[in-house]
Amino acid sequence: MNKITRILLSLTVLLGLFFLPTLGVAKDDQTVKDEETATEGETSKEEETSKEEEKPEDKDTQEEEKPKEDEKPKEDNPQGEKPEEDKPKEEKPKEEKPKEVKKPKKKVKKKNPQKMVYLTFDDGPNQYTPKILDTLKKKKVKATFFMIEGNIKRNPKTVNRMVKEGHYPALHSVTHDKYKLYMGSPLNVMREMEKTRKTLKSVSKFDSKLTRVPYGSKPYMNKSFRDPLAQKGYKMWDWNIDTLDWKYERSNPNQILTNVKAGLKGKKGPFIILFHDRKGTAEKLPEIIDYLKKNGYTIEAYNPKEHVMMNFWKDKRL
Ligand SMILES: [Zn+2]
Repeated sequence: MNKITRILLSLTVLLGLFFLPTLGVAKDDQTVKDEETATEGETSKEEETSKEEEKPEDKDTQEEEKPKEDEKPKEDNPQGEKPEEDKPKEEKPKEEKPKEVKKPKKKVKKKNPQKMVYLTFDDGPNQYTPKILDTLKKKKVKATFFMIEGNIKRNPKTVNRMVKEGHYPALHSVTHDKYKLYMGSPLNVMREMEKTRKTLKSVSKFDSKLTRVPYGSKPYMNKSFRDPLAQKGYKMWDWNIDTLDWKYERSNPNQILTNVKAGLKGKKGPFIILFHDRKGTAEKLPEIIDYLKKNGYTIEAYNPKEHVMMNFWKDKRL
């Protein structure tokens, strides 16, 4: 009996040793398969993305490298020979250099005073001045502005733009009132110009000594009024062409150009044309500048170094 039990026990042990590992392996295979399918999904995506990323990189590098290889022979063969042919072509700029030398010769040419025109704008700066400045900038023309002290204070940006863009800022009194200017002390005009000058200087740092007295210097600016101005070193400009733009700028702006044409006709310059910072004037200005340019006039801003005497009294001090 002992032998039988021993045999049975050994059989059960053998059976146990045979079946138990197979059951355990079967479980492991399922979990491994599940894990594999899960990781395969991820890895396959990663592989796809990595393949997609790699593929264009390969294409790029291949495409980049290929043209480099294609260009190099092109550069070596035909362009290596052409530069020798191009070298004589590069000598052409040398022919252009004399043209650049000719330009200063034009500058050296003396200005014809008979064709000189000074555009002058009174009573600003105001809301119409920027449009005038825009036109002057577009047409590459410089002008002279006779400004009222209060308007300088009210429009400092316009004043500074004016100065920055090469125009000449000038003085046109504080009150613009003929009674206050001409009916009291003969010093009044000079005093108002002094105040305007100081305000302009504080706003723009520009020290201007050019004046235009309101309503022009005749009849009010007799010698007693002119003397203080001259003694302080001021200059006084009137005009020789009056556009009467203040009168026509709304009703008939064409008349402004007509008056310019009539003022020039049969006369010799230099011409000082009187305008005002007005709406109709600003709108008509491009046409007026075009007309002057087409007819050979030279337009410039006032230049104290080349002062032109232009006052109704023909006072050489001013
Ligand atoms: Zn005025």
